[in-house]
Parts: sequence; C-alpha cells; structure tokens
Amino acid sequence: MFANVIVDISNDAVDRVFDYETLPDTVVGMRVKVPFGARSLLGYVIGLNEDTTFDKSKIKPIISNLEDVPKLKSEIVSLVKFMAEKFFLRLSDCIKLAIPSCVRLDTQREQNTYTLSLILDLDTAINIIGKRAKSQLSAVAYLNEQGEADFSAMVEMFGRPSVNALIQKGIILKTASRRLRSPEYENIQIVKNILTPAQEDAVETIKNTNKTFLIQGVTGSGKTEVYMSVIDNALAQGKTAIMLVPEISLTPQMMQRFNSRFPGKVAVLHSGLTEGERFDEWNRIFNGEATVVLGARSAIFAPIENVGAIIIDEEHDSSYISENNPRYVTHEVAQWRARYNKCPLILGSATPSLDSFLKAKEGEYSLISLPERINGLEMPKIEIIDMLNEVLDGNVTPYSRKLLNKLEECVNNKKQAILFINRRGFASFVMCKECGYRAKCDDCEVSLVYHKEDNELKCHFCGKRYRALTNCPNCNSTSIKYGALGTEHVCKDLQELFPNVPIYRYDNDTTRGKNGHKNILAQFSNTSPSILVGTQMIAKGHDYPNVSFVGILDADVSLYNSDYKANERTFQLVTQVAGRAGRKTNDGYVVLQTYAPKHYVYRFASSYNYNGFFEKELNLRKTTQFPPYSMILRILISSQSSEKAVSVTKKLFDKAQELKEKYGNKILFLQAMPSPVKRIKKNFRYQILSRYVPDDKITCDFYKISDIIEKDVSIFVELNPNNLR
Ligand code: ADP
Ligand code: ZN
Ligand code: ZN
Repeated sequence: MFANVIVDISNDAVDRVFDYETLPDTVVGMRVKVPFGARSLLGYVIGLNEDTTFDKSKIKPIISNLEDVPKLKSEIVSLVKFMAEKFFLRLSDCIKLAIPSCVRLDTQREQNTYTLSLILDLDTAINIIGKRAKSQLSAVAYLNEQGEADFSAMVEMFGRPSVNALIQKGIILKTASRRLRSPEYENIQIVKNILTPAQEDAVETIKNTNKTFLIQGVTGSGKTEVYMSVIDNALAQGKTAIMLVPEISLTPQMMQRFNSRFPGKVAVLHSGLTEGERFDEWNRIFNGEATVVLGARSAIFAPIENVGAIIIDEEHDSSYISENNPRYVTHEVAQWRARYNKCPLILGSATPSLDSFLKAKEGEYSLISLPERINGLEMPKIEIIDMLNEVLDGNVTPYSRKLLNKLEECVNNKKQAILFINRRGFASFVMCKECGYRAKCDDCEVSLVYHKEDNELKCHFCGKRYRALTNCPNCNSTSIKYGALGTEHVCKDLQELFPNVPIYRYDNDTTRGKNGHKNILAQFSNTSPSILVGTQMIAKGHDYPNVSFVGILDADVSLYNSDYKANERTFQLVTQVAGRAGRKTNDGYVVLQTYAPKHYVYRFASSYNYNGFFEKELNLRKTTQFPPYSMILRILISSQSSEKAVSVTKKLFDKAQELKEKYGNKILFLQAMPSPVKRIKKNFRYQILSRYVPDDKITCDFYKISDIIEKDVSIFVELNPNNLR
C-alpha cells in the first residue's frame, strides 16, 4: 500500500503530496514520520492507494506512525482537501487550521494530578513504619484522618522521601487522575426560558432539516435562546453542535449561558486560551467528551463528529473572513460541514450581511424573522442629533446638549449608560500648528495616537511606542494640535462632568491580559449608576438589563471609510450598539451624533428599517457594479525592500493584464498602486485591485498568477476584502 503524505514543512516549494510505502497500521489522518532528503519530517497521511504514479523503486517507506488514533478525522481530511481546492490554498496550511500546533507538534501533554490514600489500616501501617520514622507516622495519621489527600500537598507537608517511602512500602496508594486546564468562567445557574411562540416556530422549522437558515431577529429578540434549543434537540438525538461567535473572549456572558445550559458538555476554542487550555479543550472535543463547541472562527475546524447543528451568530461580523493566510470564508466551510453531516446551518443576526440577506431573498437560504423583542419590549428610540446645529448654537464640545441631558437623566435614575466612540487612546493624532509636522510611526505610514495615561504616542498598527511631544521636533514650536478624541479623552471629560459616577473604559488598551474583558464587564454590570465607554467591542452581544441609555458619539468615522462596505458596516454598527439599550425595560434611549443627519444609513438605522436599507444599498451596489454584483479581488504585495515590492507588482500586473485581454469587459476595473497604508511594520505595500463580473474562472486565474514564490516578498490574495488598508 502507498500513503499520500503532506509533509509539514514551511517551504512553499514542497506543498504537494508525496507517496510513501505504508507500515502495517498506517491509516488515513495519521501523523507519521517520513524520510525527506537527508532528514526525517512530520507528515500527514491524507490518502491510501494500492498503487502509485511515482517510480516505485524510488519510493521509501514511512519511518513510523506517530499515533494509534489518527488526529485528523476522516471528515476533516475531506474538509482540508475541499478548502485547498476552493480557496486555492496549500494543504499543509489547511491542516494547520485543523490541528492546533500544541497537538500537531506535541508541545503539550495531558496533565495529571495524583491522589494518595491509605491502603492498610492505621495500626498495621504504624507497625510496619516503626517508631523512628516520625514524619511517615504523621503522614499516615493525617491520611487516616483525611481519607485521601493530594500528592503534592503531602510532599509539601511531610517531605518527598517520607511520602515515597510510604508508597514503596505499599502502605499508601498513589492514583493519577487527569487535571483539566479549562478556561475560567463564572459558574452561575441561568434559568431556562420557556420559548415564545415565535421562538418555538423557529426551532420547529429548523430542527431535523439539512438546510441553511438565516435568522433575522432584532437585538434582544431571543436568537440565542433559539440556538440553544436547536442544540438541545441535536444533543437529544445523540449528536453534537458547533456554535461560532465573533470574538468569544469578549462575551463571557455567552460562555456562562452555554455552561449553565449544557453543563460539562461545552468546550471553547478561541485565540485567548493558553496553550494548555487549548490542548485540553481540543482533546475533550476529539475524545467525544465535549459535545458542544463554542468558539471563534477557527472553531469551525473542531474535531467533532456527528454534528447535528452548526450556528454562526452575528453572521455579518467581519471576523468570519480571515484576513491573513490561509484565507477562507467561514460560512463556506460551515456549509460544507453541514452538508457532510446532513445537518442544518443557522446564520443569525439583527443586521445580516447584504450577501446573506440576498441569498435568503433568492431562496438559497430559508429566512426566519424575529421582528420583536422578548416580552413585547419596544426597540429603544434612536434620536439623530445634527452636530452642525450644536456648533451653530455655540456648543463646540463633542457632546450634544441632548446627549448630556439624557446621560444625566440616566445617571439620576440609577441606571447604566454606554457611550460608543470608535477610537481608542486620547487623541487620534498630534500635529504642529506652526509647521504642520505630524507625528508618524517609523515603521508604518500612519499617524501616531496620543495616549494620555501612559503619556506616550503609540502606533496602532505595530504597537511601537514613542515619547509624547512637548514641542515640535521640526521647528521646536510648542503649539501642538491634538486630533479627534478617543475613549481615554471621553472618560476624562465624563469624570469631570459626573465626578461621583464610576466610569469604565472598554477598549483594546484596558482589556489586555487574560481576564481583562471579564473584569471590566463584571465591574460595570455590578454598579449602578455607571457609564461604560468603549470602542466597537461594546457592540458585540452584551446583554445588560440595566442599560437604558446609549450614546453614539461619532458614527461618521466608519461612514466615511473609503471602501464599498462602509455604509453596510455603519448601519450594522449603529444598530448593534443601539441594541444594547433597554433590553429588559421600556426606557431604552439612543442618541446618535452626526454631521450627516440626512444620510440614508442613519435614516434606516434609526427606524430599524433593515429591509429599507437593504433595498437601497443593494440598488446602489447594482448601479455601481459592486459586490454582490461584482467581485473585488486584491493582490497585496509587501516587502521590506520597496524595489522588490515594485518589481513583483509590475510582474504580476503584466500577467493580470493578460487576464484582462482574455476576459475582456468582464473585468470592470484593473489597476496597480500603492496600498492605502503604504507601509506597515517596515513592509512596503503595493496592491493590484480588480473588480469583475462574478465568475469563478476569473478568480481562479487570479489565484493562479499570484501563486508564485518570490524571495523576501509576500503575496496575498483577498476576495471582497473587509478592510482595504
Ligand atoms: P438575542 O440573541 O436575539 O440578542 P437573547 O437570546 O440574548 O437575544 O435574548 C434577549 C434577552 O431575553 C435575554 O436576557 C434572554 O435571557 C431573554 N429571553 C430570551 N428568550 C426568552 C423567553 N422565551 N422568555 C423570557 N426571556 C427570554
Ligand atoms: Zn507602526
Ligand atoms: Zn513644527
């Protein structure tokens, strides 16, 4: 027999299948050690054949099988093959998505704890020990009293030699048990709600089917409750489930809800785990101990079998499209697994992506609507404030009078408020008023952000820190201008306005560290009145019953982003942030500050008119020929050498132009240029942008021309990118 083996090596040139002679127990999915040139390397068996197309005399045997039970289950082997083909990826990269490195490279092991117990009765034990070994005597006396004790605790108390002597003499028994490293969560019991008729209908429609559903349910309509019931149903049939949530580490509440509903069955997978936790969680899934996987994007590759439901919550979230290699679209991977398992795939959101909603309209997905909040609660009123009027009336602060009034009212009522500003730090840039000098990062082509707390300038692209400016390094002037305000600034202002109200900041800076998110949210949720100031992190699924006021300080930041998804993203953001208010009472109120009060994004968002927005935006995309009526493809070329980046860009552009000739006016746009951010982390960045009539053949051809290896240059292709920077 011959095994098709993918060799685990980070050299692009060897990403192909090699054949080796099998060992007796070699099976598909196994990690093996194979000879490769003069070395022996780790490999993965992805197929077995009676015959080979290679020269048999040159084929070498596998050196050893590295496991009895293959780490890649057969579904995952097929999935990896599908992905490599569909997204034009290297098989070895896809395998890396499916097995975390701590498992792949055996850098972690199971951990045990040891328990000691007395086997003999106390008198017999004392007789054997004799009178002189005092600490052994104390140890058995202690064990006799306690029944059993932890090995390391005993070693601590009575010394290792005594404990070991007792084990050797057969007086006490040492037993091993597995010590699980599990992510922490607050273990609170949450009562199971009785489903409303609308929720019940949704569950009935979904269960036992193998279709794709799009649940469009306003914020607080009880979608999560529906997901959990669908999962209940799968578990009742002896099946398993995968539930994806964007940035699960931001939403400890979701973990609490799931652990309370499915105790002992949930495993979580996300980037915030320690290696040890990831190893244990992955193995609990692999061994079938955990039957519900809750995780971020990459959890879609969980080694779980017999899947009965796959759920993608907040399906519009940009984190479902990977922005680095290997690129993939989570929805497509999920759809493949749902088909393989003949189970339903459920996409859910208050603000579905245009793509998904269009598919639902066209019948590819089944649409389920939950248009009302639980208990008949009203959606919070969203009031649009024209900031130009404020200026004309002499208010030049970033806070409208209405916003301050409402905030005060909220605080006086001992309720909580959330203020949203999508900029962290104190000021978005610093600039010299005299000569126009602007502080920039040495390694990136971006302005530095002023952080007052640390009195530093920071690069938000690479994290590099610089000393704050007191005078201009160029002309020595001391008149420094500070750019648009960020979360830090807002907190300082609010603290002055409301000196007795606790104010919490929730952004990338304050949530660092393992329990950063949890700590802030826990403090906030336990304090009323209080104010939470945050970036888009606060838009994600938080459910705090006491929040009655939400202020959106500057929504225009995201509106005037120059990419085609800016309108869609702003609509989603406003709706999601507003959705944090009034989740348990009817006093929810939202103030949205803007300089473009008539913009249709705000008009539709403030009236919760998703359909209206959808029609309008889709129409715009159609007339301007943007996705979903076209595809946007970007080839990003980056290198520390600007010459190399330019020459590769030229080379690729020549080939791209051949495609333009081949496909004629199906290719609507093709251009090479520096990327909007010309340099990040010392790398010069160029791009080739193309827009074309949707056609997989064209995409594939672009992938093909970009599949070249250039020394010191990285080439990355993205389809309909979320972020063009
Ligand atoms: P969504 O995911 O749509 O935002 P959730 O499932 O989080 O909505 O529900 C919003 C709130 O309503 C939660 O606090 C939840 O516990 C509660 N809830 C959901 N379904 C019910 C129900 N059938 N009966 C009572 N409360 C419910
Ligand atoms: Zn930088
Ligand atoms: Zn200056």
